[in-house]
Amino acid sequence: MVNHMLMITADFDNIASLQPQGGCDDPDFSYFFKIKCGRCGEVSQKETCVTLNDTVPLLQGKGTAHLVQKCKFCGRDGTVTMIPGKGKPLTQELSEGGKYAPLMLFDFRGYEPEGFVFSGAWTAESIAGTKYEDIDLSGEDFNEYDEKGECPVMISNLRSKFEVVK
Ligand SMILES: [Zn+2]
Repeated sequence: MVNHMLMITADFDNIASLQPQGGCDDPDFSYFFKIKCGRCGEVSQKETCVTLNDTVPLLQGKGTAHLVQKCKFCGRDGTVTMIPGKGKPLTQELSEGGKYAPLMLFDFRGYEPEGFVFSGAWTAESIAGTKYEDIDLSGEDFNEYDEKGECPVMISNLRSKFEVVK
């Protein structure tokens, strides 16, 4: 079985860590990305959205998934299931080393993921210990002045990838 781990990184200035508002397994945090059909290669025009709290029953058999969708082009059914418990905050150490932090593991059946979009609310902590909540990373870089650390803080150059995990 092949799963895909969503990995993220960013450039930090005086930031110690970054993660979704309620942690990587935040039940209400929505993950947005496009999906590519494994049969015909058609890529969805819009981003699809999955949330841990939001499950749908499978078409066949028992169980649930986080997305059940038919490819608009070839009609093939596919599912996306989230596997919590594998994510870690992106730390200064990883960022400085040019490394990625795992955020969420996905089981894609019939589809492959493409292009994660940074949306939703994020939380970060500065190296001086100041906590920032409800950060919006969908537009511009995050810029603040840290009163406690008496220095500017910034999160920029966000990058993401889906890594195949066997
Ligand atoms: Zn298709």
